[in-house]
Amino acid sequence: MNKKKLNQFRSQLKSIRSELLGDVEKSNHHVKENQNGQIADISDHAARTYNRQLEGELGEQEWQKLKQVDAAIEKIVEGEYGVCTKCEASIPEARLEVVPYTEFCTQCLSKMEKNPQATSLNDKKNLSQED
Ligand SMILES: [Zn+2]
Repeated sequence: MNKKKLNQFRSQLKSIRSELLGDVEKSNHHVKENQNGQIADISDHAARTYNRQLEGELGEQEWQKLKQVDAAIEKIVEGEYGVCTKCEASIPEARLEVVPYTEFCTQCLSKMEKNPQATSLNDKKNLSQED
C-alpha cells in the first residue's frame, strides 16, 4: 500500500477516534513526528485513552471499537496495516475504506460470522478452573 493511501486511512482512523472520544484529541498539536514522519507518541495516546476507559467514560461497544482503531493506527506506524490478523492475507483496500479499523480479511470475517463459537474456542481452553 502506498504512503498516500496509508495517510488517508490514518486520518480516517483518527477522526473515528475523535468521534469516539468526543473531540478530546483536538489538542494533539503536541504530537511529534519522528524522522520517518510517523507518530512517535501513539503509546501516550493509548495510555490516555485507556485511562478514560478506566474512568468509565466509554461504553463497552465504543471501547471495543476504539481498541480496534488504536490497533489499526499502530499497525500503520509499524508498517503492517492492511494485513489480516488471523491468516495474514492482505485485506482489500475497498474493505478498509468501509471499515478502516478492521483486523480481518473478508474470508476470515465471514467464517467467524457463520461460526462465532470458533473464535472463542482457544479462550475457553485457557479458562481452566479459575472459577
Ligand atoms: Zn484472514
